[in-house]
Amino acid sequence: MSLVDITLGEEKMFGWGLIGASTIAAEHMIAAIRVQPGHEVVAVASSSAARGRAYADQHLVSAAYGSVEALLADPKVQAVYISTTNELHRDQVIAAAAARKHVLCEKPLALNVADALAMLNACGDAGVLMATNHHLRNAATHRKIRELVRAGAIGKPLFARVFHAVYLPPHLQGWRLDKPQAGGGVILDLTVHDADTLRFILDAEPVEAVGMAQSAAMASAGLEDGAMAVLRFDNGVLAQLHDAFTVKHADTGIEIHGEKGSIVGRNVMTQHPVGTVSLRTADGEKPIAIEHESLYVRGVAAFCAAIRGEGTPAATAEDGVRSLAAALAVVDACRTGAATRVANPFA
Ligand code: NDP
Repeated sequence: MSLVDITLGEEKMFGWGLIGASTIAAEHMIAAIRVQPGHEVVAVASSSAARGRAYADQHLVSAAYGSVEALLADPKVQAVYISTTNELHRDQVIAAAAARKHVLCEKPLALNVADALAMLNACGDAGVLMATNHHLRNAATHRKIRELVRAGAIGKPLFARVFHAVYLPPHLQGWRLDKPQAGGGVILDLTVHDADTLRFILDAEPVEAVGMAQSAAMASAGLEDGAMAVLRFDNGVLAQLHDAFTVKHADTGIEIHGEKGSIVGRNVMTQHPVGTVSLRTADGEKPIAIEHESLYVRGVAAFCAAIRGEGTPAATAEDGVRSLAAALAVVDACRTGAATRVANPFA
């Protein structure tokens, strides 16, 4: 039992298990879980028992398991956060559902839509909550942009542009670049976030993709480290996406252009609570006030509230499936050079 367990009192504690001794959990999610009142990370599962123990010690997690099954058998674990490499998500979500644990799963949910649907259905059948950790929906910037679009501030939206060409930091230059079987590559890593963010802002679904990708400087084994794509949405919006792991000195951003105005978000395709939003219309350019807050804390809070029956998660399992379908259409479009329909997973 850790000191944190003793302080909280076990009877009041909602326990989380980490499936995956990952960087994202260490850098953002453990803290985001711990600030939720009454919630604690009680266990971690790693494929290496020794690494799992070292990770648990480093992050003050009481239990470390060398298998997912062992973590799922721990009665203190009521929800799991899954942040292993992408090919493992499917079986781990299905196992968690069978063990009646609520599931917050990382994106991309899976490597194909059928697997993602199987995950969603397993959780539905087991009566546990499943959500997708698309953090950008929780950014105060993107929520404000959505609000402006919905309020008609730019009239009918016509175009969107997403600038998400970044430099993959050295400590993450692993499976994303050389392990296609793990679902690496920039499209499943970043384009999937663009698709989800645009779906959120526009309240529309992507229906068609075209694109070109490159493997220019970092990725190997046929994986893409840069891509430019266009998604057509079912409300007519054309969205241009630029995603990369290889660009050191570009700014990120998002723009939504409508009949009456444009919304410009700068430095907003990020994990951090930063960035600016402005509205340009016939009246000139107006900066929009943003009250920044942690994207991950807000996302976990929405998930916890949904478990209590209050509202829905920021990005549901269905959102994860739909955004994956869009990213996979971009992969196909880039690889075939042909315009690719985004299949509706729920049709
Ligand atoms: P990591 O590479 O840090 O972790 C993935 C897996 O790699 C871990 O589960 C772990 O396996 C193994 N691993 C990690 N570090 C080591 C090491 N030093 N030696 C050996 N094995 C190691 O991946 P990320 O944290 O970057 O990404 C994990 C998931 O989260 C992915 O699905 C990714 O797409 C998603 N992600 C989401 C973000 C978001 O903002 N929503 C941001 C970043 C990532 P094991 O558990 O078996 O030890």
